[in-house]
Amino acid sequence: MTAYLNGQFLPLSEARVSPLDRGFLFADGVYEFIPVYSRFPFRMDEHLRRLQDSLDGIYLPNPHTPDEWRAIILRIIATADFEDQSVYIQVSRGADIKRDAPFPKGVAPTVFLFTAPLVTPSPAQRESGVATITAEDIRWARCDLKTVALLANVLMRQKAVDAGCAETIMLRDGYLTEGSSSNIFCVNDGVILTPPKDHRMLPGITYDIVLELAAKHGAPHEVRPVSEAELRSADELWMTASSKEVLAITTLDGLPVGHGAQAGKPGPVTRLMHDWFCSFRDNVMRHANA
Ligand code: PMP
Repeated sequence: MTAYLNGQFLPLSEARVSPLDRGFLFADGVYEFIPVYSRFPFRMDEHLRRLQDSLDGIYLPNPHTPDEWRAIILRIIATADFEDQSVYIQVSRGADIKRDAPFPKGVAPTVFLFTAPLVTPSPAQRESGVATITAEDIRWARCDLKTVALLANVLMRQKAVDAGCAETIMLRDGYLTEGSSSNIFCVNDGVILTPPKDHRMLPGITYDIVLELAAKHGAPHEVRPVSEAELRSADELWMTASSKEVLAITTLDGLPVGHGAQAGKPGPVTRLMHDWFCSFRDNVMRHANA
């Protein structure tokens, strides 16, 4: 697998960073994850804009212009011997010669990228949806920044794995925030509901696409706080993320999602949204490759 580290393209196994790197010592860094289909980076500019927002949020000057980023990303994609990829980008505040919390002066940031095969949901997960649990959201108050301080997300994800589930859905003060690595949508009485972008959740690139598609197709939707009661009584639930796309959630804390004959199965709005998403993505790709 190919990596990029501070100006050099090299095999991932040969990439080395200092143990004094602030990403390692303080989680003082941000990251992005760009899905790549048939070597086309999907929504790259939006990912680069969010990277800029995350860097601004931690007062770390962007080491590259958008054109430089695009060139690095396209080159790393070209070096891989697989078509569908996930490009990981990380920028940390670099490695000083000592461990000291305030920002160091004159230290270059560490820029690290690598590409791996893109892993999307399996056909079985697509067909049946996935199981989830809920937990209190114990993260800090800047969940809108995509920082590498992911320990709470890691603990939440492990909680899901230990329970034989795919994701943990988090609640803060009785309201839905997001999944440990996804945004969450409900369908209640025919209306798609999802929380607004604020400091309590990551502004997902796929979240934006889903809301654009709902608007384009005239599907009733509301972006507003979603209560725990609304989450638990939803007719349908799905999660979105770059690697998950639109993925049905069919159980929540061991109970089937939805009602009547639909209970515990991917619902009609979820299926429709997944189809819209796939057509949209395929269309973007067709134009990109034309
Ligand atoms: N929330 C969190 C906490 C995430 O880690 C992710 C995945 N990066 C998302 C939401 C979904 O964001 P995106 O659609 O941009 O992948």
